[in-house]
Amino acid sequence: MLDVIIIGAGPAGAAAAVTACRKGLTVALIDKARFPRDKLCGGGITGRSRAYIHEIFGATLPPGMALESRRVRIMAGTVVLGDLADAPPLHLTMRVDFDGWLHGLAIAAGAQDFTGQRIARIDPALPAVTLEDGRHLTARVLIGADGVNSITAKALHGRAYDPDRIGFAMEAEVPHDAPPADPVVEIDMAAVAWGYGWSFPKRGSVTLGVGGVHGRNPKMQARLADYLALHGQAADDLRCKGAFLPFGDARQPPGRGPVLLAGDAAGLVDPLTGEGIAWAMKSGQLAGRAAAAAIAAGHPGQAFARYDAALAPVAAEMRHARRLRALVYHPLLRGRFLRSLARQPGVQRRFLALLAGERDYADMRWSSFARQILRVITGGRALPRG
Ligand SMILES: Cc1cc2nc3c(=O)[nH]c(=O)nc-3n(C[C@H](O)[C@H](O)[C@H](O)COP(=O)(O)OP(=O)(O)OC[C@H]3O[C@@H](n4cnc5c(N)ncnc54)[C@H](O)[C@@H]3O)c2cc1C
Repeated sequence: MLDVIIIGAGPAGAAAAVTACRKGLTVALIDKARFPRDKLCGGGITGRSRAYIHEIFGATLPPGMALESRRVRIMAGTVVLGDLADAPPLHLTMRVDFDGWLHGLAIAAGAQDFTGQRIARIDPALPAVTLEDGRHLTARVLIGADGVNSITAKALHGRAYDPDRIGFAMEAEVPHDAPPADPVVEIDMAAVAWGYGWSFPKRGSVTLGVGGVHGRNPKMQARLADYLALHGQAADDLRCKGAFLPFGDARQPPGRGPVLLAGDAAGLVDPLTGEGIAWAMKSGQLAGRAAAAAIAAGHPGQAFARYDAALAPVAAEMRHARRLRALVYHPLLRGRFLRSLARQPGVQRRFLALLAGERDYADMRWSSFARQILRVITGGRALPRG
């Protein structure tokens, strides 16, 4: 019997694997894909992500893996709301490289490599999994780090997410010959409802994307086509792909007994900014730690109780972000928020600090930020209902 089975070898699974292996546990890291594998993503590595890479993996982004940008333009369609040359740094990478690197670190830490293996059956009660090739693995703890369409979450809760509340995002990759000398990140606050559009420069391409609440954007493909047209690109000439973005809709509870959900499988994507990589790594680390502590105490069935307690600050961040999202994206408030964004450098800087993962909502006393936004957008008047 293994100590831990981890399903999914993305950032959450790799972080859980490294953490559990360093605690001396035997770990099977399973993924249906062979690594390096691609993953639809803007590939924005925030300050928070870089801090977690250091804390969890004891590593820094290898040279050449990401393009650093300090210049951010905040747009509303063709209107420039703000252009900051000294914004908090954002590192832009391709997930095929980034995840391949993290997976390598997990295997180097001692995780048994079961990538390229599909799962035929999952039994959360034991816990155990049967691979499609017939192999049967049992463990003391099972960590579901298997992304937005998590089979582990489905095994626990019957479904992985609520399609009305979840986010949906689409992207296209526009190749270029050489990385830009002064890479500019663009955020378009008018591209979709309850979300934004982004232009993320990479070393070999620019990622153009739009993402927002799925239920509020029934024609996301058309929104992407409009956004591409704004950048002089025709959707028909590019490969446009979409994926669900599980924000602000955390699985309740994110585990049970010896089964823990981490990363997208637990719905841990910031509902305001769409940041998910950092939270995937952090929750993976917390899951690995909880598994180790419960196994050491001789009670693997109590792993979830430990994990749930440790995850409380992350869950609080998601709640703060969700409340603030209503102030930033609500249709009745949005116009005024955008005008305040254009006029108030203080609001711009605090908003960019959130986008770049430089500040936690709790640390920045989000409620005072919320009050500042409220004051600006309502002109001191009462908040409209809706
Ligand atoms: C369009 C888009 C843009 C985004 N941009 C950003 C961004 O710029 N910055 C940011 O921080 N976040 C971004 N995100 C969010 C980010 O991509 C996710 O939050 C992050 O990848 C979550 O990591 P994870 O390890 O939980 O899941 P994943 O990275 O999805 O990894 C899950 C793994 O599980 C495996 N798996 C799934 N099902 C099974 C199965 N049945 N059996 C075995 N293996 C399985 C998959 O193959 C995969 O390797 C974006 C998301 C989207 C959709």
